[in-house]
Amino acid sequence: MSRHRNVRGYNYDEDFEDDDVYGQSVEDDYCISPSTAAQFIYSRRDKPAAFAEPLEEEYGYEGTEDTAGYVTTNHQLSGVDRARLNSCLDQMREVLGESVPEQAMAQAVLDSKFDVQKALDLVLSQDSKQNTKTKNEDAVIVGKTTKGKSRDSQSARMESEIVPKVTKMTVSGKKQSMGFEVPCAITEENGHVNTPQKVQVPEEQNMMPTPVKKSSKTKPQIDVKTELEKRQGGKQLLNLVVIGHVDAGKSTLMGHLLYLLGNVNKRTMHKYEQESKKAGKASFAYAWVLDETGEERERGVTMDVGMTKFETKTKVITLMDAPGHKDFIPNMITGAAQADVAILVVDASRGEFEAGFETGGQTREHGLLVRSLGVTQLAVAVNKMDQVNWQQERFQEIVSKLGHFLKQAGFKESDVAYIPTSGLGGENLVTRGQSDELTKWYKGKCLLEQIDSFRPPQRSVDKPFRLCVADVFKDQGSGFCVTGKIEAGYVQVGERLLAMPPNETCTAKGITLHDEPVDWAAAGDHVSLTLTGMDIIKINVGCVFCDPKEPIKVCTHFRARILIFNIEVPITKGFPVLLHYQTVSEPATIRRLLSVLHKSTGEVTKKKPKFLTKGQNALIELQTQRPVALELYKDFKELGRFMLRYGGSTIAAGVITEIKE
Ligand code: GDP
Repeated sequence: MSRHRNVRGYNYDEDFEDDDVYGQSVEDDYCISPSTAAQFIYSRRDKPAAFAEPLEEEYGYEGTEDTAGYVTTNHQLSGVDRARLNSCLDQMREVLGESVPEQAMAQAVLDSKFDVQKALDLVLSQDSKQNTKTKNEDAVIVGKTTKGKSRDSQSARMESEIVPKVTKMTVSGKKQSMGFEVPCAITEENGHVNTPQKVQVPEEQNMMPTPVKKSSKTKPQIDVKTELEKRQGGKQLLNLVVIGHVDAGKSTLMGHLLYLLGNVNKRTMHKYEQESKKAGKASFAYAWVLDETGEERERGVTMDVGMTKFETKTKVITLMDAPGHKDFIPNMITGAAQADVAILVVDASRGEFEAGFETGGQTREHGLLVRSLGVTQLAVAVNKMDQVNWQQERFQEIVSKLGHFLKQAGFKESDVAYIPTSGLGGENLVTRGQSDELTKWYKGKCLLEQIDSFRPPQRSVDKPFRLCVADVFKDQGSGFCVTGKIEAGYVQVGERLLAMPPNETCTAKGITLHDEPVDWAAAGDHVSLTLTGMDIIKINVGCVFCDPKEPIKVCTHFRARILIFNIEVPITKGFPVLLHYQTVSEPATIRRLLSVLHKSTGEVTKKKPKFLTKGQNALIELQTQRPVALELYKDFKELGRFMLRYGGSTIAAGVITEIKE
């Protein structure tokens, strides 16, 4: 199971320092202490003659035929020229990242007489020529450049650490190598053809981000729909969120389900049991499978959205365990925004179901939220049935109360299934319950069977690519990673992507799906993208990565149709709200109240109302503090919905009808 790392407030400088190849090369390879390093810097400035040697070693230019010319020239460089060279290299690195070996860049700078633009052109044209070489030729070059204690050897080592991610790809159940488009003549004759458009390339080259120049290339055509059907052994992907009031038993239920499915080994479970006993929270052992962080365990509540994967007969499930506590609803919205279906867990114990269900309890709010965020199928786990001796009457009482409410919230009766469970006892989770108390009145599905029978949602693979960033973090090696669900279209390794905001492009250097490297991923997939050619600082949670040819719109001002929930204070012009859209939560103001609409026909019943009250449907204009990337509901259903919160509660759900500016 992997949990998103929260990087807000993260000190990126530390990472950049780590990434500083000069520093790392010196320290890792030569173990120079800070004082020795100071000497080194001193000698660099004051003793040009003595400097030549360490520089040569540090940069790893020694001994490779390719770079011999540069080394000789470099020895002859004056102090000023060396400074110019370093400055040019810095500028080039900003464009190329770590994709091109240092010596190749340096040689290009010298060849182009310190003209960065020319040097870049030179390197890029060399790079594209290199791509057309045969595998064998490349292997020789790789062999040469990686020998010796050089900076290159280090970058090769760094890259080789990431290599398995990119090479071990399973598409249609077969192991494949990543490919990229090359002219047909070459693919045919060198015999390394994977598909008509693809040619195998050495791993070293695969790791390199596509240089800027290649941005104009078109996507190699893959039949995503067919590939999707073949992938995961023909199993459909389903994103599932677990919701419900705090302490309803969500983590215990899902933790136990995972354990019974064999996703948690006995030893780990034993460890959790021991640790939870020691901490005086023995009943939380299963919840610990999902509640990963120390604080969550200490407080006994889930705070973040945990993610893990498991399989049923016909499906591969990405499970999101959303926090039930009121304080963490924004996290829950992020989780639910990425879900296709939901499990609502309610506590069957006397008084507990009622506490979760009344105003202020999360059962209602979560139910409304997931429906407004586009979830239409729901399994209700009537949990802790052991506490009420598996009484049919209690179960029926809960079913009728909830049924009425869920219908009002917009769920079809036929799309909601109720399952009696005991998360702690493990009853009716992966196999049908055995106890007489249950079997005498319940003949329905167990929880796993219900999950398996959810209908998979339609994936918008034909639409332009869209991914909303749920998390950003610095990974080992060059570039950085973003995670999120692909809402539309598909992405391939090596492709150029546009981030909105900040309206900048980058290259998808790697794609990870369920901790497995893949060479493409499509709508519905929860992926992690490794990106290069962009500064991590520019990317925030909520940015949308999209197809540069068909970008998403960014605005601060849009119109929407909203449904107002159970509010106490009427909404007036200038009302401050928090806009929750996909993974974004952004302060906003209701700028104008345009009209009140009839709930079912949508006709205008009142123009320019002074205020809006509970249960009303209305057309409004919203203004956000900062630009947000949005889609119209009519274009992208998945991306056209949002929620409004105020003072810690959700006051409305809406769909975007017009993007203004
Ligand atoms: P969450 O906040 O919804 O994730 O709830 P937890 O999974 O953390 O569970 C809260 C408490 O309820 C823990 O003490 C669990 O041991 C207990 N619990 C969970 N499921 C059951 C159940 O089926 N039966 C009983 N008796 N207790 C349960």
